[in-house]
Formats: sequence, structure tokens, C-alpha cells
Amino acid sequence: MLNLDFHPSGRHFLQIPGPSPVPDRILRAMSLPTIDHRGPEFGALGLELLGKVKRVFKTDNPVVIYPASGTGAWEAALVNTLSPGDRVLMYETGHFATLWQKMALRLGLEPEFIGLPGYEGWRCGVQAEMIQARLAEDGEHAIKAVCVVHNETSTGVTSDIAAVRRAIDAAGHPALLLVDTISGLASADYRHDEWGVDVTISGSQKGLMLPPGISFNAVSDKAIAASREARLPKSFWAWDEVLEANTTGYWPYTPSTNLLYGLNEALDMLLDEGLDNVFARHRRWAAGVRSAVEAWGLEVQCRDPAVYSPVLTGVVVPEGVDADAVRRTIYERFDLSLGTGLGKAKGRMFRIGHLGDCNDLTLIATLGGCEAGLKLAGVELSGSGVQAALEYFAAHPRNAAQ
Ligand code: PLP
Repeated sequence: MLNLDFHPSGRHFLQIPGPSPVPDRILRAMSLPTIDHRGPEFGALGLELLGKVKRVFKTDNPVVIYPASGTGAWEAALVNTLSPGDRVLMYETGHFATLWQKMALRLGLEPEFIGLPGYEGWRCGVQAEMIQARLAEDGEHAIKAVCVVHNETSTGVTSDIAAVRRAIDAAGHPALLLVDTISGLASADYRHDEWGVDVTISGSQKGLMLPPGISFNAVSDKAIAASREARLPKSFWAWDEVLEANTTGYWPYTPSTNLLYGLNEALDMLLDEGLDNVFARHRRWAAGVRSAVEAWGLEVQCRDPAVYSPVLTGVVVPEGVDADAVRRTIYERFDLSLGTGLGKAKGRMFRIGHLGDCNDLTLIATLGGCEAGLKLAGVELSGSGVQAALEYFAAHPRNAAQ
């Protein structure tokens, strides 16, 4: 049972990098009565949202929607396009890239996991030239797919997907490009068609501002062609039956009706605001949060300013400090949830999410909780991050050119 006594008044601050806070407008849309998923009203809704969702992925091709978390959509991307024993080139950007690679192993694929040595890869984006060099060596085209994470949620580092596309093309290699933008979509710029991505994987609970529970595969013609030959077992995840049912706005099984109401509302909100404005809003928040980290005298996890995540910021704590202990103090004292350090980053950093239903003052409050919690944990700060972020936001008004 949820301990409600712990949240006595006001809203809990859910500042983890997903699930993100859900806007009231979306919660209201989801509270409408559940309807017959085989009835005419549902078919009309299905057609409407299947059309609109393409605009967020920036594709003219179909987007498959699953009643599953992002992990399911990872699996769907692999089982639809690959066969047992296929070699796949995966790049280690952090914890989520590592989990995806483990999944590939479990499915009977042969992943080759490359990246910068040691912990460095968890502080930088994909080095596209390493992908190009490896593909250039693969004259027999044994590698069937390249898998990369666009926004590594465990670190707050993005990767340049257009550069990965260029690397594959420069090597003259036919491998498919599979990209996880589970936490990037609808917060960070993403272009499925323009970047020549074959399968884009995403989820509901991050930039789309929905609760967890639905996930996506945007597919290219080449990926659909590959799915006709691919021999990994698939049934629930198979694209063909979903795509067939989707032509009339339905699914071959029971879809997540109320989450789809929410998705329809979220798409309206995002498209009405304009995706470029949405991205600029997240970049501005991220810059404000980084100005706070700098004022504290701490480091952000991402070492390369060119690939700072607009979605979340990883805050590295000084040696000898347990980031999870700091996080616990902040949670208990201020009812504020921050992201934990995952995998190799455990204890070294915490993550501040700046996505979903946020505004400048939510983030100022979040930074206030962090600042107080860090001090309570005995971390010496060189200045006030709250003050720095306030000044950043004041000096960079919303809607000004970014
Ligand atoms: N990939 C990334 C980049 C993620 O951030 C997550 C979840 O946070 C996943 C994959 C796994 O998605 P899910 O937890 O929805 O199954």
C-alpha cells in the first residue's frame, strides 16, 4: 500500500527522468469512460492518433504502438528485424545501452559491444567514427544492425544520430540502424526519416508526458522488408498484424484505451506548441539546471557540451559522498524524487529530470531541495545553484531565440 502519510500536503516533486509528471489536461483526458475497442468511435480515434504520432517521430512511415513499457519495444525492434545468431553492433553509452545489449544476448543474437574504454563512455556520446571503423572491417556484412541510444537516461548524454547514419553510409554498409529514443522523443530533436533510422524505439512516460504503459516502434520500409525474412520467434511483437489492423484504426488485441486518449491529448499539446518550441523549452531548462550545478562547484556527468541532454542532468557528487544517501535525504526531507545512479554510475551521481509537467519554478524548487540536501549531507558547495538558475532563467526569457 502506498504510504500516503508520507506526502502530507502539496504535490510530490517527481523530478526523475521519467516517468515524468503528467499534466492535468492529460490526466483528465484519460479519465473519460473506457469505450469498446472494436467500436466505431475507437476506430476513429485510432486513425487520428496513428496519423498524428508520426509527426512527433518526424516520419511518413507507420508507427507501431504496443501496450507495453519501453523494454517491450526494444524486444520488438530486435525480433522483428533479426534472426538467431545475427551479429549486431551495439554502443555502450550507459546503463540502458547495457541492458539492451543483455537483451540481445538473451534473444540469441551476437552483440558486439563497443565504446570508449572504462567509465569514459558513460560521460560521452556515441563516437560515430568507431562505428564506421568497425563496419569498414566487416567486408562480408556479417553485422546486421547497429543499435544506439539517442538520449542515455542513466547519464544525461545524448548521441548524434545523424553522425551515426553518416558513419554507416561512409562505410558502405547495409546494416539496419535501430535507435532507442525512449527518453529523447518529444523533448529532444529527433528525425526518424531524415536521419535514415530503420527502427525508432520510444515510450510513453518521458517526453510524451503520459504514465508508463505504451511504447513505440517507428519503422522504415527497409525494416519492414527485413521483418519478412527475420527468423527470431515473434507473435505479440510481430509488426505485420498490428500494421494490418492499424489501417482501419484498430489493434489485433486489446489496446490501452485510456492511455491512448492521453496520447491523443499529449500529441495535441506538443503539436500545438510546436516541436521546435518544445525542444527549446527543454534546452533552456537544462541550461538553467547546469548553471546551478556549476555554481555549486560540482560537475555534470556529461563531459561534452555538444551532447548535453535537454531531458535530464546527471550531477556528480564529490569522492567519498554517497549520491544515494544524498538522494534519500532529499526525498525524506523535501518529498522530492531524483533519479538514482544506475549500473557503473551507482553512488557517484544523481539525476535531475527536467521534462514533463514542469516550469521554471518547479525546477527552482527542485534545485532548492537538491541544494539543501547536499548541504545536509555535508557537501561543501561553492555557491548557490538556486540563485544561479534564477538568474539564468531571468536572463533567458521563455520564447526568446534560443
Ligand atoms: N531505454 C531508455 C533510454 C530508458 O530510459 C528506459 C527506461 O527508463 C528504457 C530503455 C526501458 O524502458 P522501460 O523501463 O519503459 O521498459
